[in-house]
Amino acid sequence: MEILRGTVLSEGLVAGEALVLSSGEVIIPDVVVKPSDREKEVARFRRAVDGTLKEINELTNATEGRLGDLTRMLGTYQSLLADESIINQVLEQIRTKRKSAATAVRQVIAGYVEDFRRMGGPLANYAPELEDLGRRLVARILGKELPSLDRLPRKVVIVADEITPMQALSIDRDKVIGFVTQSGSPESHTAILSRHLGIPAITGIENVASIVPQGASIIVDGLEGVVVLDPDKAMKQTYAMKIRRATRTRWQTTTISPEESVTQDGVRATIRCNVDTSDHVRELAAMGADGVGLFRTEFLYIGKAVPPDEKAQAKSYEETLKAFGSRPVIFRTMDFGADKFDARVDAVKEENPALGLRSIRLSFAREDLFRTQLRALLRASVHGNARIMFPMVTDAGEFLRAKAILEVVKSELKAERVPFAADVPVGVMIELPAAAIASAALMKVADFGSIGTNDLTQYTLAVDRTNGRVSDWYKPHHPAICRLIKVAVEAGLATGKEVSVCGEMAGSTRLVPVLMGLGVRSFSMAPPRMGQVVDRISRLTLPACRALADAVLASPDAEEALAVIDAFESRAVEERAPAPRKRRS
Ligand code: PEP
Ligand code: MG
Repeated sequence: MEILRGTVLSEGLVAGEALVLSSGEVIIPDVVVKPSDREKEVARFRRAVDGTLKEINELTNATEGRLGDLTRMLGTYQSLLADESIINQVLEQIRTKRKSAATAVRQVIAGYVEDFRRMGGPLANYAPELEDLGRRLVARILGKELPSLDRLPRKVVIVADEITPMQALSIDRDKVIGFVTQSGSPESHTAILSRHLGIPAITGIENVASIVPQGASIIVDGLEGVVVLDPDKAMKQTYAMKIRRATRTRWQTTTISPEESVTQDGVRATIRCNVDTSDHVRELAAMGADGVGLFRTEFLYIGKAVPPDEKAQAKSYEETLKAFGSRPVIFRTMDFGADKFDARVDAVKEENPALGLRSIRLSFAREDLFRTQLRALLRASVHGNARIMFPMVTDAGEFLRAKAILEVVKSELKAERVPFAADVPVGVMIELPAAAIASAALMKVADFGSIGTNDLTQYTLAVDRTNGRVSDWYKPHHPAICRLIKVAVEAGLATGKEVSVCGEMAGSTRLVPVLMGLGVRSFSMAPPRMGQVVDRISRLTLPACRALADAVLASPDAEEALAVIDAFESRAVEERAPAPRKRRS
């Protein structure tokens, strides 16, 4: 038996058989192409590009119904395949350097991957997709098969150096029960996908694909970040019990009852969901959430060949509002930049994009796009309970600047006699340390606040949220983060305005008790997380949460805070089903 430690990408517990994937690197015969064969090589390359494009399009069509917007990750592959500089360099290598199509592809793509990684930032995030694309093209040119995850004979835990988005999207959901990888950051597309699918995933285990034998018995503990290889009898029994218990707590529930999101002592917490587009809103609305706490509107642009205009955006917002009826839908205005880079909005590559002209700053710089979006949001606002929220704001002045643009847009629409909800509430994301520290002033001018713990953690702890190399330093439970959350929540209480949490922390059953103790009463999360969070809240009492939060705040460092949270969790495991509770009005 061996215990390997890694980082949790997606929570959950499973036990099964390992399917170890090789890197898929195929050996390329070393040949110098005869001048008379050059055009044949060009044709082989072009056929491989067309075939790969067809495969991606088919995968997009096949998964769209199930995975909605996540399929747009495939857009990266499509754009890379359409990139003329890559294509032309490959053609040049074949035509002037007498390289075979396979060698030319491998060399050109390796050069790009190296450049992307050296440049860092958002471009580095595309390196795995580009590498995968190179492997696929080479395999196609040479007529070789790459490991496929869509036709598996039995249930398996996939073990690999890395899972590419294309592999992840093509998996057989009934057969793949877990992922264990060497690399992959918690905010990577594949991590988001595994959370969406509810598949436990752990990364950061060095050389895992060489350590784990093919077919080995393996346990993935995506709560503790532990992988147990070849578990002994006692360990198997312990986990069998834990897995049964986890399943009992509606591990992958599809509908929730927010009215059950009430602590043992009668405190109701609001449960909303985070959405990226209107693709599946009717199904989402039917899940029963208290509304949408974060609509990441930038995803309407990302991966689309044609950016949505005012009409297309308004349609998407309207559909969402109608689906949720009287329940609130918080539309966060476009949050481009850093890992959500879109060259059509801003083509400049910055040295430090996370600290650059991103988010609301980019909205000010591209006021044309910002106004179009605000017009679309206002147009749609008559169809439901719309709220608008500005991201990456540092202080009240910046919030008021954004709001002033909204007011101008309102007067334009008024002049055009376009109906809109004049009193649409306008809120602010509290996701920068500055915003949290200055939240008292911010909450005086905003109608509501929502704490984005993903960026709050990134910026407070100076940890790039997309960089797997520093993911050990990414600690939302850090006492400094909790202190900032408390400051923001208190600013909400002082002004009588709601301050919710919409970062990943809101969907963590380990951290929700801390947030409750800090005073948070409204949570917004990825839809598959809602059932477990409701269940967790229904087993809590407020005094216990407060004591937990105080202990976390008093911890000298993140490790001690984590130990306090772990101890609280271990006690919780002993808890029984919720007793009848009193309702507090
Ligand atoms: C956050 O930063 O916590 C957040 C919810 O926004 P995003 O993850 O889209 O940056
Ligand atoms: Mg953010």
